[in-house]
Amino acid sequence: MTAKTVNGEENEMNEQLVTECAAGAPGLSPEAALIQLERQIERGSLFTHTALGRTTERLGEVESFVYGLIDALIAKGIVSSDDISTAMKNIQELMPGVGEPPMIGAAIRPAETEQDSSEPATVDCDARMHICHSVCCKLDFALSAQEIETGSLKWDLGRPYFIRHEADGLCTHNDRATGGCSVYADRPSICRKYSCEHDDRIWKDFERMELNHEWLSEHLSESRPRALRVLMQNRIPNQPRCGEAAQL
Ligand code: SF4
Ligand code: SF4
Repeated sequence: MTAKTVNGEENEMNEQLVTECAAGAPGLSPEAALIQLERQIERGSLFTHTALGRTTERLGEVESFVYGLIDALIAKGIVSSDDISTAMKNIQELMPGVGEPPMIGAAIRPAETEQDSSEPATVDCDARMHICHSVCCKLDFALSAQEIETGSLKWDLGRPYFIRHEADGLCTHNDRATGGCSVYADRPSICRKYSCEHDDRIWKDFERMELNHEWLSEHLSESRPRALRVLMQNRIPNQPRCGEAAQL
């Protein structure tokens, strides 16, 4: 009797899963959608195990290198143990502040609720492009599952599922010739809603079009380490911060 109940519940759950899969993959039969989902889960597991294995291996190498380097620097009197402790403490405090994911893994921006959806931002970008050079397209953000599924947005393979940036620091979808968005119709919702108007990281004086060169050079210059990049989410009300993005 118990077994029958469990099986009955399992069948019900399977049917529900098939229905949900089919709903998320229009044009596919429920069975094909389930096969597609299974493949993605399998690939996702492979990614996770590979990433963890490689990370452990690299951590061992980095650990030996760092300890060796610290010992050599202290032995030569170049730094003291106190210098090292202070520097470590500063970095530990800085990392969560820039929304860097706390561990190796993938981040997905949670789906928006109706309550979160707001009108697209209205900034006259054309009038400002000669000054800003679309610097907002250097800000970081994770894509939502829905945006990833569209297939038209590229994510950073080295840091799934953050939007992909090129070596110049700009989003890969930024049209370098015009500064515009080459995927405008499909641009992520976070880009649609972002307004630089009250973003004092970008502008010292929005009306006078005075950029905050100090902040931009400190945080978004091309050579800046990836860990110190900053998020677009910080200036959009009701948007979950990246630290709150789902960690896979
Ligand atoms: S949103 Fe602001 S920073 Fe971005 S392109 Fe438009 S004017 Fe420039
Ligand atoms: S998707 Fe478009 S608007 Fe968004 S950051 Fe990239 S280029 Fe800019």
